[in-house]
Amino acid sequence: MIIDDQHYDVIIIGSGAGGGTLARKLAPTGKKILILERGDFLERESSQLIDTEVFKKEQFHGPEAWHDRTGEPFYPQTRYCVGGNTKIWSGVLLRMRDRDFETVQHQDGLSPEWPLKYSDFEPYYTEAEQLYQVHGRIGDDPTEPPHSSGYPEPEVAHEPDIQTVFDTLSKQGLHPAYLPLGLGDQGRTDSEDTGVSPALKHENVTLKTGAQVISLHTNPSGSEIRGVQVKIGHHSYLFSGHIIVLACGAVNSAALLLRSANEKHPNGIANRSDLVGRNLMKQLLSVVVQLTASSHSGLFPRTVGLNDFYWGDKDFPYPMGHVQNSGGIFQDVIFSEAPPIFSALARAIPNFGLRQLATRSIGWWLQTEDLPNPNNRVWFFGDKLRVDYEPNNEEAHDRLVYRWVDILRQVETAQPQLFNRSTHPRSDMPIPIVAHQCGTCRFGEDPAKSVLDLNCRTHEVDNLYVVDSSFFPSNTAVSPGLTVMANALRVGEHLIQRLA
Ligand SMILES: Cc1cc2nc3c(=O)[nH]c(=O)nc-3n(C[C@H](O)[C@H](O)[C@H](O)COP(=O)(O)OP(=O)(O)OC[C@H]3O[C@@H](n4cnc5c(N)ncnc54)[C@H](O)[C@@H]3O)c2cc1C
Repeated sequence: MIIDDQHYDVIIIGSGAGGGTLARKLAPTGKKILILERGDFLERESSQLIDTEVFKKEQFHGPEAWHDRTGEPFYPQTRYCVGGNTKIWSGVLLRMRDRDFETVQHQDGLSPEWPLKYSDFEPYYTEAEQLYQVHGRIGDDPTEPPHSSGYPEPEVAHEPDIQTVFDTLSKQGLHPAYLPLGLGDQGRTDSEDTGVSPALKHENVTLKTGAQVISLHTNPSGSEIRGVQVKIGHHSYLFSGHIIVLACGAVNSAALLLRSANEKHPNGIANRSDLVGRNLMKQLLSVVVQLTASSHSGLFPRTVGLNDFYWGDKDFPYPMGHVQNSGGIFQDVIFSEAPPIFSALARAIPNFGLRQLATRSIGWWLQTEDLPNPNNRVWFFGDKLRVDYEPNNEEAHDRLVYRWVDILRQVETAQPQLFNRSTHPRSDMPIPIVAHQCGTCRFGEDPAKSVLDLNCRTHEVDNLYVVDSSFFPSNTAVSPGLTVMANALRVGEHLIQRLA
């Protein structure tokens, strides 16, 4: 093993939403910072989707197999590169609703309270929205929590067909709203352009790409991380730092802690609670397709969000979830990577080609909160990474889907010139779609019931932090990215004080 002779103030492992944002926050301190990123820079053209390229369905999947609860291998939809999954995301940057931070009764059980509240996160949401240049408009969505200042940029206009749907929904008494979108000169903002690249302008920040962390080593008492073991090319290196921050994503950060088990941490680093890897959540996600009568470009962003059923419906007093249009299929990774859509459509409408699907359809993306279950977990069976996940809260999700299809039918009746009134194929996202993974190292005050303290420092190891989506105690039904970034900024503020 090659021992690096530098000592860093902070080592950040992973450069996605959490790690990239934290690097940007810490860079101006002048502290010596090392970012270790498993992937490389994504070439710009391959981070933009080009026409039928999106149909190469494995393009955005990870290189190694994980294993489901039956032991079957699968290739997760996760991107290892500078910027992490923000390089392939849709850039919809929603705040959690204020009630999401409280205990909420769902049909299938309780969504637990967060140890911090919306008001604790609000300043960091605002900071994250400024950094990531969020375009949006406040006031249309009754579930939107209070903002201390408006969005930094105006909302993005809808495509003409989408505008018609938006207006029709409003006439039905619903409350469609402009989705908040992170957009810069180069398209969607991400944690490379907004986090890592500006951080690297400071000479105290170093990035090593192609640097996969494979193990963490503690001091003999187990109270501190002393060494970070990294595979770079064919060689193994050992780096040391005063503060170590994990930001590998909820599955990979938990996996790294578990894989680093030693005599003082026999169940994995910082895992006396036995909670590392447990309570994995990934939301229930479905796409419903609506067929249009004439063709469009297939190239437009997600712009419509609807939360009328976020907390329930007239005859269902439990949260159901969030709806958004899925964006043109040539521009939207998750939508295009949902192969079941194609088979559902092929059955419903024989001879319907992929290009037709892209230009003659509008997709609707529905997301429902799943509840933490300790048996949904990341663990190792021998050297195989297992992701045991059994969905829950499914009736709430089904109700959202059925309710939405009803609404789409009403829209089609009101706008017969626009829509082909036929079927509404539905596709549920299978296990490899781990886009909204979270919860594997929940934060809290009680070391017996959480892995991280309120500053996202592990309860057991003084210099070890986790700033990716692992810290979520519950998943909510909004997309997680903005909360991950806001939290990284919050933890960054704590680290700046600690390092002073
Ligand atoms: C297709 C897609 C679309 C999405 N759209 C949205 C959206 O519109 N809005 C939204 O809010 N969220 C969206 N998400 C989710 C969002 O991208 C994630 O919530 C967010 O990126 C999570 O941030 P993170 O820091 O936890 O992990 P990531 O962003 O995944 O970053 C983890 C980083 O760690 C690196 N890494 C992993 N293991 C190691 C290791 N051992 N050593 C070194 N480096 C390592 C990875 O390469 C990666 O760079 C989307 C996700 C996907 C996949």
